Amino acid sequence: MQFHSTRSDTLVCIEQAIMSGTAPDGGLYVPELLPRFAPTDFDGNTEFASIAAQLLAPFFAGSSLQNELDAICADALNFPVPVRTLEDDAGSLAVLEMFHGPTAAFKDVGARFLAANMARIIEHGEYAQPPVTILVATSGDTGGAVAAAFHRRAGLRVVVLFPDGRVSARQQHQLTCWGDNVISLSVRGEFDDCQRLVKEAFADPQLRARHSLCSANSINVGRLLPQSAYYAKASLDYWRATGQRCNFIVPTGNLGNGFACVWAKRMGMPIDRIVFATTANTTIPDYLASGDWQPRPSIPTLASAMDVGDPSNMERLRALVGDADALREEIQAAAVTDDIIRATIVDEYARHAIAWCPHTATGLHVYRELAESLRQDAHWIVVATAHAAKFDSIVEPLLKTEVEPPPELAELLNWPASYDTIDPELPELASRL
Ligand SMILES: *Cc1c(COP(=O)(O)O)cnc(C)c1O
Repeated sequence: MQFHSTRSDTLVCIEQAIMSGTAPDGGLYVPELLPRFAPTDFDGNTEFASIAAQLLAPFFAGSSLQNELDAICADALNFPVPVRTLEDDAGSLAVLEMFHGPTAAFKDVGARFLAANMARIIEHGEYAQPPVTILVATSGDTGGAVAAAFHRRAGLRVVVLFPDGRVSARQQHQLTCWGDNVISLSVRGEFDDCQRLVKEAFADPQLRARHSLCSANSINVGRLLPQSAYYAKASLDYWRATGQRCNFIVPTGNLGNGFACVWAKRMGMPIDRIVFATTANTTIPDYLASGDWQPRPSIPTLASAMDVGDPSNMERLRALVGDADALREEIQAAAVTDDIIRATIVDEYARHAIAWCPHTATGLHVYRELAESLRQDAHWIVVATAHAAKFDSIVEPLLKTEVEPPPELAELLNWPASYDTIDPELPELASRL
């Protein structure tokens, strides 16, 4: 299959789409068509990695990666994505736990799949001259997932830029504990300075060529595709057990995770309703309500990984579905304030003795607020996008108890960390590359 930009019809192969990230015209790569499955096509296929391989096979057909897709999925998607049912008087509620990967957030899925693909594309000797340098600016979650995914991958290096003193202690540890082919740089400035430096580096043709610079940001189609697979797995499991379609509530920021859910549904997975939960960054719910697309600067909230005022993947969603009228038929969205996030973390702990992260809390609140008619006779799955222990400084004071990190995260927290600090100037960055 081939891919094209949301802004043109020119086709490129999947290797090209993955290695270049964004299209030259500034648009986002999308597949020329979506394959269509029946749930029964997956009969006998029960594992996350093998469901992913079957679902994604049409996208890789005809590419140099086609025969390696099974191996890529087995390599990248090597952790469980369990659905945990919660006792609930008011309806049927479960949580899709996306925090069993190395950095305890769903971004491990996309980052690991992207890394497994890039490593093979480079090995094949096309599209990029090794060593390829992945340059990533992060305000927290993304950088850790990308560093973990590319750590010790042959032919690849990662340079992570984060704002000095502005990420939490645990987050910083996940950005700086890798060594080997991962360089961590603390930038004297804000996240915006980190992002500007990355942009300046990519805009410098010499620097770009000398280091074969590549990006691994969340709009890369190689990160988005595998995310459809956990929606496929969770919805197929429920459909096999009950013959019913399930509904999803997706905590949403840049709209990658939510968009992947729409893809899974459009590919024929047994999914009924899809609801996006946002923070006080209400660009998406406002658009659905008013029909006016009004991107704006982001506002910091407790669910920091969802603080996006101009969600990039809306461009893909509108290209696929249409304008606000068409979108309303397919999705809903609701915003959740910080006060409600706090209250939800406390309430849900009282209910089930489980600590949820601030992002997941937005989804749980949206479930509680659903009209009764939507909750009854319907099964809802809230996506738990990260483990609460990643956000200990928010969650622990609210619950007045310690939140144990999951084993993968606990292991990382024991590794020694190291990083350099630089001024927010391109020559400083260039000298470290
Ligand atoms: C990135 C992230 C989100 C938001 O996901 P998008 O794909 O940007 O919508 C939500 N929760 C957590 C924990 C994240 O890291």
